[in-house]
Amino acid sequence: MATKRDYYEVLGVQKGASDDEIKKAYRKLSKQYHPDINKEADAEDKFKEISEAYEILSDPQKRAAYDQYGHAGTNPNYGDAGGFSGFGNGGFSGAGFGGFEDIFESFFGGGGGRNANPNAPRQGADLQYMVDLTFEEAIFGVEKELKYKREETCHTCHGNGAKPGTQPETCKKCQGSGTINVERQTPLGRVMSRQTCDVCHGTGKEIAHPCETCHGTGREKRTHKVKVNVPAGVEDDQQMRLANQGEAGTNGGPYGDLYVVFRVAASDIFDRDGSEIYYELPLNFVQAALGDEVLVPTVHGEVKLKIPAGTQTGAKFRLRGKGAPRLRGNGTGDQQVTVKILTPKNLNEEQKEALRLFAKVSGLSTSEQQPEGFFDKVKDAFGGKKK
Ligand SMILES: [Zn+2]
Ligand SMILES: [Zn+2]
Repeated sequence: MATKRDYYEVLGVQKGASDDEIKKAYRKLSKQYHPDINKEADAEDKFKEISEAYEILSDPQKRAAYDQYGHAGTNPNYGDAGGFSGFGNGGFSGAGFGGFEDIFESFFGGGGGRNANPNAPRQGADLQYMVDLTFEEAIFGVEKELKYKREETCHTCHGNGAKPGTQPETCKKCQGSGTINVERQTPLGRVMSRQTCDVCHGTGKEIAHPCETCHGTGREKRTHKVKVNVPAGVEDDQQMRLANQGEAGTNGGPYGDLYVVFRVAASDIFDRDGSEIYYELPLNFVQAALGDEVLVPTVHGEVKLKIPAGTQTGAKFRLRGKGAPRLRGNGTGDQQVTVKILTPKNLNEEQKEALRLFAKVSGLSTSEQQPEGFFDKVKDAFGGKKK
């Protein structure tokens, strides 16, 4: 059996990490290695390892057991657990223990003990699914069908692993416990250790005629589809939980959940922050100077906007109710319009002449008539001696 990596190491967090840190690390890694996203050969194994580590470290009882006893504290298949082989008979003959079971109980007393039962129902793993949305889909909502592979309860045997018409039987060797005690003679004396039952491999059951669909595992990988109603107003990186759309549980435990994470595409035209939408309106300086009525694009369609004479660059207008819907609560945000005055480029002689005339009648100064020393003052103001 391969040695298992430390759960903290798997998630890349410190031993004393907070629940929040663990959750963040899990979210980041599970996104990175999700088999629906990451097509590398070992992504699925990594994803499983990450999910398993999170399952233990996110549960206070399981985490406590793991902190104290390592993998032996969490895994029903603790055949590999080194902790038990160190006891010589001298270790507990004088200590008043009734036998190995007692020691075992004292180790796994309380919540940790549940995990030792291979027949206990366990909820399936949660899955994560990234949904790409356009800028508009996120604002108005959309129905999406998600399609992904997940472990399901075998549809042929309904999870018991036995060929239809037959039943799994309790393992005779371990009496259904999934583990056996093994006694060995060592130079230090007799050593007892507990190992995974070699007949049933820890399941506690013997299946004489395995189901042909799942080969006795009770589970099968299937493509699963689920419809999700993306609510109007979702934002990038927000997530939504769909109960029971994760992987099948074991021993009759419930399915895990599916976490849908939204990825919202940027818009070429708009920016968005929550329910507010931002738009930069380009105006030529004649419109800005004389005033105008223009059509402004919004996600709800074009809107007429009156530009007052003398509008400056950076001036802001608010189009009420033309933003994105508020997710929780009522109403819709606004669209903010910020004016950007465009300075004309590549003027022809006629245009230049018109502008010079404009400058003259307005009494504006141009380079031909800058007051003495003007540019030196500008240089000083910017603190630069240009070379
Ligand atoms: Zn089956
Ligand atoms: Zn067995």
